[in-house]
Amino acid sequence: MQTNSTEPSESSADTAHDIVFQCPHCRTTLKLDRATAGTTLKCESCQQLIRVPRSRSAKKISSKTEPTDQEPMADLEHRLKENESQRTEITGYINQHNIQLHRWQLQLQTLNERKQQLEVELASRKTWLG
Ligand SMILES: [Zn+2]
Repeated sequence: MQTNSTEPSESSADTAHDIVFQCPHCRTTLKLDRATAGTTLKCESCQQLIRVPRSRSAKKISSKTEPTDQEPMADLEHRLKENESQRTEITGYINQHNIQLHRWQLQLQTLNERKQQLEVELASRKTWLG
């Protein structure tokens, strides 16, 4: 499984380094290949899904200085994509429910009109009888 997109690797020095981090579930220290950075995989120890952090050494001093959060671009792009697909999903739900809501509103309107008719009718009968 290789998630090697065209990564701007200007620093040829630390490409060989593994990523060492702690599993958030079982606290086992894991050593993983750099290629897995930013991906989600199973912890060898507890089998839980964990997200492999990007190595800190990949700090790039470029023209852009991102605010406090030092997430690499690829990760942000990935998150943006995820966000976008969720947006589409939710928008779909809203549309569906809007249609349903509109139907209900029409139905309610019909019922209201019917209610008025019936009330008028009932009132007129009462007057006839009374
Ligand atoms: Zn674990």
